[in-house]
Amino acid sequence: MEVIIFVNKEYKYKIINTNNMNSEYYLFCRKKYCEILSNLDNIVESYDNIIDCIEKNEKFNSEYIEKSKEKNFFVKNREYIIEKKKKCDDYINDLCCHEFEEDMIDITPEKSMKITYCKICEYTK
Ligand SMILES: [Zn+2]
Repeated sequence: MEVIIFVNKEYKYKIINTNNMNSEYYLFCRKKYCEILSNLDNIVESYDNIIDCIEKNEKFNSEYIEKSKEKNFFVKNREYIIEKKKKCDDYINDLCCHEFEEDMIDITPEKSMKITYCKICEYTK
């Protein structure tokens, strides 16, 4: 791609545009994966509550294995989505024409730290 960039300026423009479109798509996917992850977190937490309840009440002890299996199903799904999100991060990092900006963040009320992050994809240096 870089070779073409030096040969033809117009083509460079096209490549950048396509990259921006692609990075927009992956940014959108990443946002959605974050939403899915947050939902899966809630589901797993609910299963923890159910299992907690089973452990407190002997009457339902026989349900333990079944509910653990159900919980595990969602834990595995969460791992799968985490992997998918990581892939999006990689694609975004490759495609984004980073626009870096500096900002101060507070670590403690007295102490702050300077960070450099991309305005588009939020990648932090
Ligand atoms: Zn970026």
